Amino acid sequence: MQPTLLNFINGHAVTAASGRTFDRLSSADGTLVQRVSEAGEAEVAAAVAAARHALRGPWGTMDIAARANLLHKLADALDSKTDQLLRAEIADTGKPVALAQGLDIPRGAANFRVFIDMVKAAHEASYRTSTPDGRGALNYTLRRPKGVIAVICPWNLPFLNVTWKLGPALACGNTVVVKPSEETPTTATMLAQIAKEAGIPDGVINVVHGFGPNSAGEFLTRHPEVAAITFTGETRTGTAIMKAAAEGTRPVSFELGGKNAGIVFADCDFDAAVDGIMRSAFLNSGQVCLGTERVYVERPVFDRFVAAMKERAQALVIGDPMDPGTTFGPLISQEHRDKVLAYFRRAVDEGATVVTGGGVPAMPTTLANGAWVQPTIWTGLDDSASVMREEIFGPCCNIAPFDSEDEVIRRANDTRYGLSTTVWTQNLARAHRVAERIDVGLVWINSWWLRDLRTPFGGSGLSGIGREGGEHSLDFYSETRTVCVKL
Ligand code: NAD
Repeated sequence: MQPTLLNFINGHAVTAASGRTFDRLSSADGTLVQRVSEAGEAEVAAAVAAARHALRGPWGTMDIAARANLLHKLADALDSKTDQLLRAEIADTGKPVALAQGLDIPRGAANFRVFIDMVKAAHEASYRTSTPDGRGALNYTLRRPKGVIAVICPWNLPFLNVTWKLGPALACGNTVVVKPSEETPTTATMLAQIAKEAGIPDGVINVVHGFGPNSAGEFLTRHPEVAAITFTGETRTGTAIMKAAAEGTRPVSFELGGKNAGIVFADCDFDAAVDGIMRSAFLNSGQVCLGTERVYVERPVFDRFVAAMKERAQALVIGDPMDPGTTFGPLISQEHRDKVLAYFRRAVDEGATVVTGGGVPAMPTTLANGAWVQPTIWTGLDDSASVMREEIFGPCCNIAPFDSEDEVIRRANDTRYGLSTTVWTQNLARAHRVAERIDVGLVWINSWWLRDLRTPFGGSGLSGIGREGGEHSLDFYSETRTVCVKL
């Protein structure tokens, strides 16, 4: 077992004064991965104070070129520690090595580089104003850091998500206190340590561990010296955080849940559509906010599509996350597995036909205590079924036939979530028409989760508030000041 994972405050590993710890168990085999020191109110206050100090001192006063230089060093250092980060991320999440290696870990350095370059290139506006004396005035805008940012992260993409927020937050000159998920505390802590080694001043990145209510998450979001909160997680947690943010009218940026539709028209490239919907339903064992749990397929290709999906789901390789051949890992925890299995049972109660899966796979004894479930496909669920309306966040989808474009748009939009949709068609005009009429923040045509980090990312309805990505991140993580100079 590793030594206890400590909080990281003002450049130092800190044990909570209470001595309280919690255990992180392996998703894959149930063994103890890590004991974690649980921050109390005092540690959270110390972390915010350290962040305030760094903001007023070395970091806040640093010239942008020097700050960019340090952040580039951090990105390079992250690249040089790929193996350590990879091992830690897999131990925390159980995700297959091929996935973590291809997606999660490389996105860390990329998230820093893209926002450093954007901040360096960001323009500040200027306007000339006429005045009665004829001499005029010059107005210009300055982007200033917002202050201490609270960064609250989920467990499904821990390193990708924390760097997605820290890249722009730090590039804009803020300091941060991160509260990683209690399920996946390690890579955020490693990031803070690596940043220190790369020369980022103490107090710029602080990490506190613990849970949400009445623990580090709540202590942090309620702290009056936190200037803004960026949160990714469940919609109902967003509601609680928003209440905390209301005190002091602090701004929030929320990336929340989804109940995303995949739409497959009969004129699609069939194999590409099967590939795309497979990935969107089963990547990361369905634990992706952008994942597809509702699939609508135009009737002429419905039976063929269901058969192809069944074959592909049954061919997923369930097994040891460290095996490069594994394509399907466990769920994050036994608690999450209980929730997903309850939905599997409810789907049958609500009238589903189980095409494949629906239970727990037989695993070798070494993995028997992991949080495994089978990749699961249903047909026959009515759009009004609770399984079709609530986010499950597991490896499952219902496939339903449709007969017209209007019908499928109405059905896809029949949800209070509004994160993303993936649409498969070779008819260009239809693709644009549908993209315009689906009420979501992100539409992928003949693709899924293909990201350019300069584009806005986020959802509408229950799926979020605001957008991050590109200039939208710069807007959230900076405060615009107008300076007016009488000439
Ligand atoms: P969660 O809401 O349970 O927890 C997220 C974080 O919030 C954790 O760090 C948790 O400790 C903290 N937290 C919980 N209650 C809190 C409170 N009252 N005050 C402050 N902090 C609190 O979410 P999760 O289960 O970790 O992640 C899964 C969810 O995240 C899914 O709903 C998924 O759709 C969503 N998600 C969304 C996106 C997106 O970009 N839209 C991306 C990834 C995940």
